[in-house]
Amino acid sequence: MIYRSTRSKITASPCQAILAGIAPDGGLYLPEEFSFPGFCAEETVKKDFYGIAADVLFALFPEFSRREVEEMVRKAYSGKFQTEDVAPTVKVGEDYVLELFRGPTCAFKDVALSILPHLLSKSRGKLGVTDQIVILTATSGDTGKAALEGFCDVEGTKILVFYPHGGVSRVQRAQMVTQRGSNTFVSAIRGNFDDAQTGVKNIFTSFAEKNTMAGTGARLSSANSINIGRLAPQIVYYFKAYGDLLREGRIAWGDKVDFVVPTGNFGNILAGYFARLLGLPVGKLVCASNANNVLTDFIRSGTYDKRRPFYQTTSPSMDILVSSNLERLLFLLSEGDDGAVAQWMKELNTDGVYTVPENLLAKLKETFTAYCLSDGEASSVLGKVYKETGYLCDPHTAVAMGAALEYKEKEGTENPVVVLSTASPFKFSRPVLEAIGEDAEGDEFDLLRRLARVSGLEIPKSLAELEELPERHSGVIAKEAMPDFVLEKIK
Ligand SMILES: *Cc1c(COP(=O)(O)O)cnc(C)c1O
Repeated sequence: MIYRSTRSKITASPCQAILAGIAPDGGLYLPEEFSFPGFCAEETVKKDFYGIAADVLFALFPEFSRREVEEMVRKAYSGKFQTEDVAPTVKVGEDYVLELFRGPTCAFKDVALSILPHLLSKSRGKLGVTDQIVILTATSGDTGKAALEGFCDVEGTKILVFYPHGGVSRVQRAQMVTQRGSNTFVSAIRGNFDDAQTGVKNIFTSFAEKNTMAGTGARLSSANSINIGRLAPQIVYYFKAYGDLLREGRIAWGDKVDFVVPTGNFGNILAGYFARLLGLPVGKLVCASNANNVLTDFIRSGTYDKRRPFYQTTSPSMDILVSSNLERLLFLLSEGDDGAVAQWMKELNTDGVYTVPENLLAKLKETFTAYCLSDGEASSVLGKVYKETGYLCDPHTAVAMGAALEYKEKEGTENPVVVLSTASPFKFSRPVLEAIGEDAEGDEFDLLRRLARVSGLEIPKSLAELEELPERHSGVIAKEAMPDFVLEKIK
């Protein structure tokens, strides 16, 4: 199996692609061909989450042995999720909700970030790399914690996370500063999220230019969703949901299922497209966005235009104007036209806008459709679903639930509809309490308890215990001190 860049003819082996993250030409890695000898979707859907994960990851990364893949899957998920089946499917009204938030940080990024560190560590071994892999991450709250949990005590890796001092919620701060593990390092910086992100980017470029890492026995890497090792594990839960509907007798093999996906960087929904290419009978993929609706406009018109206001919404993990993983879909739909993809990405960078040809848009619309909701609309959907069905969801999921309603109303569908749920309502207690008409004033930990009381749900253990855990990383540094912090922790 060979991987190739979306922007030129550069190729890599699976392990090289995982270890590098991004291709040298700035493109993203994709399998050269979506043909997977030995993989049979109909057999795979019958397995449990672990079996599906092993099949899918072995198909995509055959450089690992089957046994190695099974071991990585077990290490990543066993005992780390609230439910043994990792991602349960729940019936809500006439639709289904696929709960992707049962992991250690109560958000969907856990699914991929639990296994990416093992894929990186094993790739390092396969390629005979002896350097420590040092992951640098700037976070506005959620990704940092999911990455810390995933990399915690994984051999051959270290992880350093920077967050803006005073710029994350009390619960988010508590999640990060209490992080355990001998290879985890966290610091607040005096500045905002952009300062943290710029600081990290500058370290990558200046260390490369000055060859700072030479002789340290370490190399820098990142854990963001452009890495194929983060995308591949997300294919698994589409199979899991389909299998759940089969077992329930809701569908027979071959029946199509529609998926509604709360979308930011386009990784989650793209994995659904990959599942389809692997032979899963996926019907429509419905792209759900908040007020930052650049993808809704693109999927409807074929013009991607990021020149628009940026809104801070109650679904912050979807507040994105440049959805990196869309590049992979464009490559696949243009049948591997790397020149065209490189040109569109260049236009996006220089002019902030590009338009794809009619035939590509038509192909895109065969699988994708898109809806967007304002905060107010999502909040009223959240409240209405809770009132009518008793099911409580978080604001990101509420955006998808609203999109599902509109999709069914406007387009009609015979297929069962599965809404992907990406965060626990307890991660966003304040807007959730507001949406269900409860008092939302007060300290965040009090709001957690209030939400538990009024909903009758239990606070996830990993959040409940935070107030009691000792702080291990309470430092605050100037943003100029970030490079020294990195060098000190590498040694
Ligand atoms: C990251 C995230 C998303 C968006 O997923 P993408 O893969 O970036 O499209 C949606 N909801 C939550 C809670 C997230 O953390």
